[in-house]
Amino acid sequence: MRKYLGMRNQYLLGGIIGSAFIISSILLHHEFYKKDISIIPRVKWDPSTIRRGSLFEYRENLTKCLTNIVIHHSGFKFKPGPNYLLAYQLSMGYDDIAYHFIIDKDGDIYEGRPINFMGAHAGQTKEANELADKIRTGIISDTPIISAYKLDPDYGAIGICLDGNYELEKVLEVQLTALRYLLKSLCFQYKIGKANIFLHNEVKEKIVRKRGLTFVGNETVCPGKYARNKIKHLISIL
Ligand SMILES: [Zn+2]
Repeated sequence: MRKYLGMRNQYLLGGIIGSAFIISSILLHHEFYKKDISIIPRVKWDPSTIRRGSLFEYRENLTKCLTNIVIHHSGFKFKPGPNYLLAYQLSMGYDDIAYHFIIDKDGDIYEGRPINFMGAHAGQTKEANELADKIRTGIISDTPIISAYKLDPDYGAIGICLDGNYELEKVLEVQLTALRYLLKSLCFQYKIGKANIFLHNEVKEKIVRKRGLTFVGNETVCPGKYARNKIKHLISIL
């Protein structure tokens, strides 16, 4: 009888521990996505007007629109931070910072272009540009401009930029850790599978050509030879 009770107690104890483990896992899972990731909001580093110019804003549910993530490096070897990147990209004719998130060399994550606005980081296609021109010049009048945007690799692509030039310097572990947290959070929030996380240099083949479209722009090594394999590994074990 005592043995039976002992076994029963062990069974109960095991059940309690098992349940506690499952509950704590769920809580940890929840906490991980909701609290452990800290993103510095745009207003904290750029209190001036957010330049939205002619940016395209997604009108549908973001979970439906946001389907890809594209990872970059900034290409600057010093430590410019988001303010420098914003100023540089405005000087290059962009309406706003190109990326949705910037991870600096301290591993801090900054909100860049608000995520409900289409980014400008993944490249262009001949088909998108030609259709947009025809719509804008009135040659085609019954097609909304979103039809052109949907042919662009930036449509639905969240842009993440690691500050640095990873052709010239080693990517920092603190940045990779922040990237991992950010990717997990974004994948969870927008239901994006890790097969849809790309390096910038993969966009031409894995997004554009796969859709039968024609890539416009220069070949790129972004996010750099010292970061590419490390980020691919990070994605593989996400
Ligand atoms: Zn890039």
